[in-house]
Amino acid sequence: MMNADMPALPEAFLARMRAALGEEAFAAFLQSYARPVCRGIRVNTLKISREEFEKISPFVLLPVPWEENGFYLSADKAGRHPYHFAGLYYSQEPSAMSVVPALGVQPGERVLDLCAAPGGKSTQIAAALKGEGILVCNEVVPARARILVQNLERLGVKNAVALNADPRRLAPLFCGYFDKILVDAPCSGEGMFRKNEREALENWSEENVRLCAARQRVILGFAAEMLRPGGRMVYSTCTFALAEDEEQAAAFVREHPDFRLIGMRKLLPHETEGEGHFYAVFERTGDRSGAAGGIPAERSNLSAAAGKAFEKFCAENLRQTPQGTLFCAGEGLYLLPAGCFCLRGLPVLRAGVRAGELRKDRFEPAHALAVSLRASDFLRTVDLRAEAPETEKYLRGETLSCGGENGWCGVLADGYPLGWGKCTGGTLKNHFPKGLRLVK
Ligand code: SAM
Repeated sequence: MMNADMPALPEAFLARMRAALGEEAFAAFLQSYARPVCRGIRVNTLKISREEFEKISPFVLLPVPWEENGFYLSADKAGRHPYHFAGLYYSQEPSAMSVVPALGVQPGERVLDLCAAPGGKSTQIAAALKGEGILVCNEVVPARARILVQNLERLGVKNAVALNADPRRLAPLFCGYFDKILVDAPCSGEGMFRKNEREALENWSEENVRLCAARQRVILGFAAEMLRPGGRMVYSTCTFALAEDEEQAAAFVREHPDFRLIGMRKLLPHETEGEGHFYAVFERTGDRSGAAGGIPAERSNLSAAAGKAFEKFCAENLRQTPQGTLFCAGEGLYLLPAGCFCLRGLPVLRAGVRAGELRKDRFEPAHALAVSLRASDFLRTVDLRAEAPETEKYLRGETLSCGGENGWCGVLADGYPLGWGKCTGGTLKNHFPKGLRLVK
């Protein structure tokens, strides 16, 4: 019945599911564990339209019903393809794609993703914002937060601020600030058992379900403080436990009379083509007139020398200077999105696009800048075909030969930027970051 390499499911979990589902549905639920795990990709419409991607896709694509840019995948090679490195898609489990559409994000809104790493739902929100408004992506675990930043960069998200904080620290700073909030909470992960996530299975116990539920209640309480009147909040988990799902949602509205529960959905693997997921949608009563006044906007703090070095780089290598408020932090130079709030005192990991850094008076562009640009933004490009051996060599960090004039070049796969190279005397020095390179 189960996948051969899957550890046995805990007896207490099975007993609870049998009681919750009834005999017939429980039999179908158990049978779903014999089916292969569902995989998917979501096309990143910040970089390519769904239609364009369908034309060039190296994979067979079957649409996911609840996300217009989502597709089921039969193969698991999506993470090694050059289009992945170019940020044309994000590998995301199909059921997980169902949550963000329920948030109803509109361009221009202020959105918080409170438990954001590795960034599947954050990048989905960013696509819905279409580059307008502000997305705050927070992740409390530092190592996971770094992966979140890499994913935001790869997908070319320009209007996000990534924070690394406990929700209790953020609540007083962003009181009533956000139009939309997603709480994709840490949970007992029962919906991921079929994905054979040993960690979820090994950590599972009824006691851990109770601990998760208690932690979620606290996180939801802080999230509620940050939503403006009339705003919408979605709470989601990848577990089946009532205490973390339906009961959690009911307790939240009991404890927060200014919120109403407007809907819930549970995706069960025997009823859906996807793994287990749950979400509840809440709205806060009141209207925009009761919203917080906002936080002052961040101002450019760039020295004249830094501004000059950046302008010189843009004039020599790009068709125009990218938009955004220039902001210096340490040696790094960032392009902040329009209306970015004051960053002082916040545990900021990334704000907007990292443009590069100043080395003495010279500007060295960052990888994030290259993957936030379009091919037409570069003055010089090295145009590779995605399937060409040179593309794999570039992604492995090898030096290539190049015919063009000397200077910084955007290295492209089928016209989509992968990163920087620097052409000198017929040789292309590879600037694809070490930590991101393709390994055998
Ligand atoms: N939203 C992410 C995505 O779609 O890629 C997945 C989020 S995952 C389900 C939950 C996240 O909550 C984890 O990254 C975890 O590190 C974080 N987390 C753990 N404890 C937390 C806490 N006390 N407060 C907030 N977040 C927490």
